[in-house]
Amino acid sequence: MRRAVFPGSFDPITLGHSDIINRGLHLFDEIILAIGINADKKYMFELERRVSFIEELYKDEPKVKVMTYKGLTVNFCQQNDAHFILRGLRNPADFEFEKAIAHTNRLLSDIETVFLLTSTKTSYISSSIVRDVMRNDGDYSLLVPKTVQK
Ligand code: ADP
Repeated sequence: MRRAVFPGSFDPITLGHSDIINRGLHLFDEIILAIGINADKKYMFELERRVSFIEELYKDEPKVKVMTYKGLTVNFCQQNDAHFILRGLRNPADFEFEKAIAHTNRLLSDIETVFLLTSTKTSYISSSIVRDVMRNDGDYSLLVPKTVQK
C-alpha cells in the first residue's frame, strides 16, 4: 500500500490544499492529512473544526484520512507505515523552505518527500490570506472548499 502523509496546519483547509490532495490521490493508495499540534502556535480554528472541515469534505473518499500528531513528522510517518510525505510547492520561497525540511527528513529516515507543483488556479492561495479575508469580512468562498465556514 502506497501511503502518504500530507502534514500541515490546515487553518483552514483551502482549495490549494484540496488541489494537491486530489492530484495526490492518483499517486497514492491512501493519504493521511496529518494536522500537527504546536502548542506555541495560535490558530484561527480549533483543532476539532479543522478536522471536521476535512472529514466533511472527504466523507465520500475512503482513501483520505485525517489524523493529528505531535512531534516529528517522520516519526508519525513511521508509526503509521507511511513511506511518503506529500507537499505542495507554490513559489521559490516554498521550495527553499521545503528543500531544507525534506533533506533533514531524509537524514532522519528513508521517507521520500513527493512535491506537487500547485495548479495555476490555486497558486496564490494560502491559509494566512484566507484568515485575513475572513477576519475582515471578505468573501472567502472562492478560496476554500464549501465545508469551511466561519
Ligand atoms: P504549514 O502549517 O506547514 O504552513 P499549511 O497548511 O500552510 O502548512 O500547508 C501545508 C502544505 O500545503 C505545504 O506543503 C504547502 O506548500 C501546501 N500548500 C498550501 N497552500 C497551497 C496552494 N495554494 N497550492 C499548493 N500547495 C499549497
